Amino acid sequence: MSLYLPETNCLIQPQVSLATHTSLRVGGTAQWYAAPKSWEQLQDSLNWAHKEQLPITFLGGGSNLLISDRGLSGLIISARYLRNLDINEEACQITASAGMPLATVAWKAAKRGWSGLEWAVGIPGTVGGSVVMNAGAHGKSMADALVSIVLAAADGQLERVTPETLDFRYRTSNLQTFPRWVMEATFQLTPGYSREEITAQTRTNLNKRRSTQPYDKPSCGSVFRNPTGQAAGWLIEQTGLKGYQVGDAQVAHRHANFIVNRGQASAQDIYNVIEHVQEKVEQQWSVLLQPEVKLLGEF
Ligand SMILES: Cc1cc2nc3c(=O)[nH]c(=O)nc-3n(C[C@H](O)[C@H](O)[C@H](O)COP(=O)(O)OP(=O)(O)OC[C@H]3O[C@@H](n4cnc5c(N)ncnc54)[C@H](O)[C@@H]3O)c2cc1C
Repeated sequence: MSLYLPETNCLIQPQVSLATHTSLRVGGTAQWYAAPKSWEQLQDSLNWAHKEQLPITFLGGGSNLLISDRGLSGLIISARYLRNLDINEEACQITASAGMPLATVAWKAAKRGWSGLEWAVGIPGTVGGSVVMNAGAHGKSMADALVSIVLAAADGQLERVTPETLDFRYRTSNLQTFPRWVMEATFQLTPGYSREEITAQTRTNLNKRRSTQPYDKPSCGSVFRNPTGQAAGWLIEQTGLKGYQVGDAQVAHRHANFIVNRGQASAQDIYNVIEHVQEKVEQQWSVLLQPEVKLLGEF
């Protein structure tokens, strides 16, 4: 039965399907699910999980997640309603809370003629998830654009940190090893460009992605990290795996590092494709591809 936490009225729901919360459109249910609407509600739900001794999983846009068909135990906290935006025109900074789509921040910057996020417009994640992943494209990443990040520890303590402390590297940060809630992030943009110039570059980047990546079917973007000096997609393509399919999960024809859900794929189908690709690429190239997508739950 759903419950409301007495302090803040935060709704905690049992057995919520997570498939609609991920871009792959697969996955089982959350044992408990909360989508706080304020910092107080977030803190309240963190405290409740702590008291109930439940593990906590953070959910952003779900665009880099493969959640098991068996679902997840504990409390799953979604950032979907935490979407504040603050623009400091003088300092040329944008502060966005965890659930704000990264693309929205990128367009806000472009429309002011501020440079720094032209690469980010095609990434379908939230600000929080993109900080954790150090999301990036076109040779740039979050690490290049951030000036500060506010984190909340499991006990609800808030801390403002600089990007250097998060050990950002290729598609990773130390938040993947020591999870803390990303509350908000502040981006430092560079002024002095024309609005048309930045908007045009942003649009060009978006069109380029749309022409090379399969945007018409559910996916999680690149499934594997690029091994040093190589492109995972090239290795997969050269192994002859484009179109390889288990159930409705398929290595995309348009981009071999994408696995698409052709309609009725299960998380296990996608997992099986991942394993097969790893095995075949390793046999042929002696390279074990590492997933970029976060696998949550049991497979
Ligand atoms: C079509 C497509 C194209 C893509 N292209 C790119 C690309 O070009 N470059 C790229 O880097 N990625 C790309 N991705 C992957 C994905 O969009 C990024 O990794 C994105 O940054 C993930 O953000 P999210 O909000 O969806 O995070 P989620 O997938 O929800 O979560 C990712 C991780 O962050 C954690 N997390 C989420 N929110 C928070 C929070 N507030 N606090 C603490 N932890 C949190 C989760 O627990 C999880 O470990 C693509 C995905 C798709 C579907």
